[in-house]
Amino acid sequence: MLELNVTQIQMGRSAADKPAALALLADRLVHDDLVAPGYLAGMQAREAQGSTYLGQGIAIPHGTPETRDQVHCTGVRLIQFPEGVDWGNGQMVYLAIAIAARSDEHLRLLQLLTRALGEGDLAPALREAQAPEAIVALLQGAPQELALDSQLIGLGVAVEDFDELLWQGARLLKKAGCAESGFANSLAQGQPLPLGNGLWWLHSDQAVLSPGLAFVTPAQPLDYRGQPLTGLFCLASLGEAHRQLLERLCDLLIEGRAAAFSQATSSRSVLEALGGEVPADWPMRAVVLANSHGLHARPAKVLSEIALAFAGEVRVRLAGEAGPGVSVKSLSKLLALGARRGQALQFSAEPAIAGEVLPALEAAVLAGLGESIEPLPLAETGLSAGAAATVSAAAKAQAPAAGARLQAVAAAPGIAIGPALVRVPPLLDYPQQGQGATLEQQRLSAALEQVGADIQRLVEATSEANIREIFITHQAMLRDPALAEDVTARLGEGLSAEAAWAGEIEVAASQQEALHDALLAERAADLRDIGRRVLARLCGVEAPHEPDEPYILVMDEVAPSDVASLDRQRVAGILTARGGATAHSAIIARTLGIPAVVGAGEAVLALAQGTVLLLDGDHGLVRVAPDQPTLAQALRQREASEARRERAHAERMQPAVTRDGHRLEVAANIGASGDTAAAVELGGEAVGLLRTELVFMDHPQAPNQATQEAEYRRVLDALDGRPLVVRTLDVGGDKPLPYWPMPAEANPFLGVRGIRLSLQRPEILETQLRALLAAAEGRPLRIMFPMVCGVEEWRSARDMALRLREEIPLADLQLGIMVEVPSAALLAPVLACEVDFFSIGTNDLTQYTLAIDRDHPTLSAQADGLHPAVLRLIGMTVEAAHAQGKWVGVCGELACDMLAVPLLVGLGVDELSVSPRSIALVKARVRELDFSQSQLLARQALGLDSAAAVRALVEEIG
Ligand code: PEP
Ligand code: MG
Repeated sequence: MLELNVTQIQMGRSAADKPAALALLADRLVHDDLVAPGYLAGMQAREAQGSTYLGQGIAIPHGTPETRDQVHCTGVRLIQFPEGVDWGNGQMVYLAIAIAARSDEHLRLLQLLTRALGEGDLAPALREAQAPEAIVALLQGAPQELALDSQLIGLGVAVEDFDELLWQGARLLKKAGCAESGFANSLAQGQPLPLGNGLWWLHSDQAVLSPGLAFVTPAQPLDYRGQPLTGLFCLASLGEAHRQLLERLCDLLIEGRAAAFSQATSSRSVLEALGGEVPADWPMRAVVLANSHGLHARPAKVLSEIALAFAGEVRVRLAGEAGPGVSVKSLSKLLALGARRGQALQFSAEPAIAGEVLPALEAAVLAGLGESIEPLPLAETGLSAGAAATVSAAAKAQAPAAGARLQAVAAAPGIAIGPALVRVPPLLDYPQQGQGATLEQQRLSAALEQVGADIQRLVEATSEANIREIFITHQAMLRDPALAEDVTARLGEGLSAEAAWAGEIEVAASQQEALHDALLAERAADLRDIGRRVLARLCGVEAPHEPDEPYILVMDEVAPSDVASLDRQRVAGILTARGGATAHSAIIARTLGIPAVVGAGEAVLALAQGTVLLLDGDHGLVRVAPDQPTLAQALRQREASEARRERAHAERMQPAVTRDGHRLEVAANIGASGDTAAAVELGGEAVGLLRTELVFMDHPQAPNQATQEAEYRRVLDALDGRPLVVRTLDVGGDKPLPYWPMPAEANPFLGVRGIRLSLQRPEILETQLRALLAAAEGRPLRIMFPMVCGVEEWRSARDMALRLREEIPLADLQLGIMVEVPSAALLAPVLACEVDFFSIGTNDLTQYTLAIDRDHPTLSAQADGLHPAVLRLIGMTVEAAHAQGKWVGVCGELACDMLAVPLLVGLGVDELSVSPRSIALVKARVRELDFSQSQLLARQALGLDSAAAVRALVEEIG
């Protein structure tokens, strides 16, 4: 993103005219290697199309789209011309801001800049400024106002305690753009202040984007710290913006008018009491912007010219943003919106002119505001622009033919046979315009009620706690008063129930996604899911008829509420077009024990309903309409594998010793301390990987040393003397912690994650190590560090652990690293001299070796840990470790791949750590093997050229 700083500014230059000024600016951009010399021609061409004069003595020259390829690097350079340069039409420029931008990254800068415009006359100050600091201060504009409007008031919210209420307040502030991820957590760490009459106050200045105040009340009176809780003010504090409001609130409370808040029934009365932004009852119209570079100067000018032709006020704001919006007549204010393609502009106008100006503005935006526009993909058009909105993901590809064999990603083990039930999002056509707000409201209420009842039935029918929770969240979303209020406002604008509902859901979901918070992004999927259900009801679309016998559910991806269909009695298997082994669908399927194959490609969505499918969840294979012999063989296979599973389970406590007497340890991968006892019960000889980030994620805020100690002690107690291998916190990049905000990264898998992050925040690592050492109390503890790339990282982490062991002695402690990056495997001979053990994380090792994102929707099927390149790295690691008398485990998913087990045994791996449900099978597989033959097999595999060849080899002779 572009930011302003003093190094970009040249003071006190002069230019005879505009071309001379442009040449100076272009020189500066070229000198700083932001652009190639050809960019000057683009700047001149742009001025020829229309002046870049912005107002207030400022111009923003930049190139044309055709000269974007001349930009090396996005940036800005500013030149002050105290004597002024005539920019045409007598408009004098004292500050020229030359922009080099390849895309619309500069919009954010314009937004910042233009906030300063319109506030008094800036030109003389820019002209007289003596130092770059003065220019930056002038451009950064006036202090921001406190946001307080109806969107920030949540009355009668269904919550159970103070923390939930706080979360709701923080959510409103986030939704209004006042706060970002991490705000709720910092708010929770503050000291709540009782204001009397059950009212409380909390504030934070962490993760605040702009100042705002939210007020939330619980649906029923609650208690907090022995006092009543009737309402909570949450302040996103920035500067002095809230001072006036705070004084007003104190006056009201002193005057004994607390009931205005504690008993408030409408947001309007709260706003009136506080002097906030009372919503104007002006007609509104919303329309999605499709211009590829957002609302930049040229299209903004078209809009402002339309508004200028009307005598009366016309305002616009980004849909979902707080406040009354800005005047459409002001070019600078329009630019300050920073509107991007896909965002909805919400226009409002004085009633006297609304009937004419709103349709004119809407038509102009739809026509591209003077630019040619690419239509928006349907998912982006929350407020569909045409006469009828269409939501469809119907398959375009051709269905695979009978007998076809599809190779996709194995997501949940088992063999399933049954008719296909293909669920593709239906085509939903609906009118934009409604038949009157009252009628549309009735239709919507009826649909909401019906969907609510459907979901209630699902809640009652579901025994899995995590699935019930998804539905309960959906019910809460259906009842969300803020959502209802926003939809009602759209109905008031004349929209149909479908258009109002779909538009608001899309706006809300996009806002959640924009927050770069993994948990909130999941809520966006839930919102869209519930949105689709209600929309389908409104459009009268029925779900396809379920076959009588158990069927294979075929979908694009399994949406959260689709778990309803995943009744083990009804659904024999799951097949999805998209997704990898770690996709939502795969996780749910594994929880339920339903065989699943994911990422099979769009063509499966074109299968005819009822086509018989044979699904092999162990190998990621699908057979379309298989012939009789293939079916019969699959049935035999299924029987055999069930019998095998039963036998393995009966012998789960037997050790994993090969026929020729070579013993391996088989351990459990766990993520929650409470899972340990079950893992031991399933035959686990140790915990081979405790993913402590999952323990952290189980807590609403970072667990302190005592909390962590209790968690780790619980694991060690349940292990009853068996070893515990713990991985220190592995977060960052793709694994965010909600209460540990981290900047978004372009390549999170190559960014600040694992040990890199821990070493940047050593206090967190130190607390964790202390908790581990204290919990061990003489029991065997092995600590390993994730994502180690080199010796320095290992040594820093080890030194910290050794220093702490001086304070908290522990005899049976081993320190090691996860081998997850090729550099660690390649350096194994060096590292092996210093570590006590290695544990190979094949999930990441495969990702980094093959350069395939492990979650990639279409490529992850190729991220196969049996690739000879990965096997070679495993072999090198084992060899180096054994040369120094150290042990090696494998704790990635490869360890429970039955085809991989003989190879890992043959490569000399000492421990396999797998999900508890796989322990018995892995042990049984080891017991079938011969160590010396496995060594031979492994040697052969290392000489092959592909994962497929390795799999074929093991299938043949393993
Ligand atoms: C791995 O990368 O193989 C591993 C076990 O770690 P995670 O899957 O937790 O990244
Ligand atoms: Mg990993």
